[in-house]
Amino acid sequence: MSDNRQRIGIMGGTFDPIHIGHLVVAEAVRIEYHLEKILFIPAAEPPHKQQMQITPAQHRYLMTVMATCSNPHFQVSPIELERQGPSYTVDTAIALRKIYGTDTMFYFITGADAVLELASWKDIDLLLELCHFVAVTRPGSVEQLNEVIHNFGTQGKEHIHRLDIPLLDISSTDIRERIKDGRSIKYIVPENVENYILKERLYQNSAFPI
Ligand code: ATP
Ligand code: MG
Repeated sequence: MSDNRQRIGIMGGTFDPIHIGHLVVAEAVRIEYHLEKILFIPAAEPPHKQQMQITPAQHRYLMTVMATCSNPHFQVSPIELERQGPSYTVDTAIALRKIYGTDTMFYFITGADAVLELASWKDIDLLLELCHFVAVTRPGSVEQLNEVIHNFGTQGKEHIHRLDIPLLDISSTDIRERIKDGRSIKYIVPENVENYILKERLYQNSAFPI
């Protein structure tokens, strides 16, 4: 590879809870794009989930640490948890640029469902200048993906990269429902995350424990 700038992947999410879909996606992107590491960044207040009840950040952060600890290329950053207000990705990109300097290329890893919403993200034009996006395929959101990328014009062509991965029909929403219904989540989340969820009795009722 001729460009020897540092290349870092960013896996942002609510991670409520983190599941193997997130981990498989992050590892696939790391390898495909020759990234040195992947920073998992749990959102404090996801802007698109303002009306929804989400689990307190300390649980989501700890589960993310547990899920990623066996991969030496994965790290967890509390950068969005330390900021007040909605967790806008553009603010994170600006903060990361300050920390890592101009010689680092950032690859924001985004499932196809999130890519379909990208036009509504805060300061999306600036965000696309600051970093690359890797749009990974996800069941239910594959068909419109090329069109959405195309609609971003030159910026989309140069800064949004589609990566087809084996489709994983796994979501945190489904996991929360399974727990509420008393169904198994074995092998959908790492074992230590499953144990943590049981120990802390997460997702069992509509009211989240603190
Ligand atoms: P929820 O159902 O609560 O929205 P989720 O499974 O979508 O949870 P998020 O934390 O919202 O998980 O997702 C973080 C990022 O990971 C998003 O970009 C999302 O598109 C991506 N992602 C999550 N699950 C998958 C999957 N199975 N395949 C591809 N991308 C995924
Ligand atoms: Mg989601």
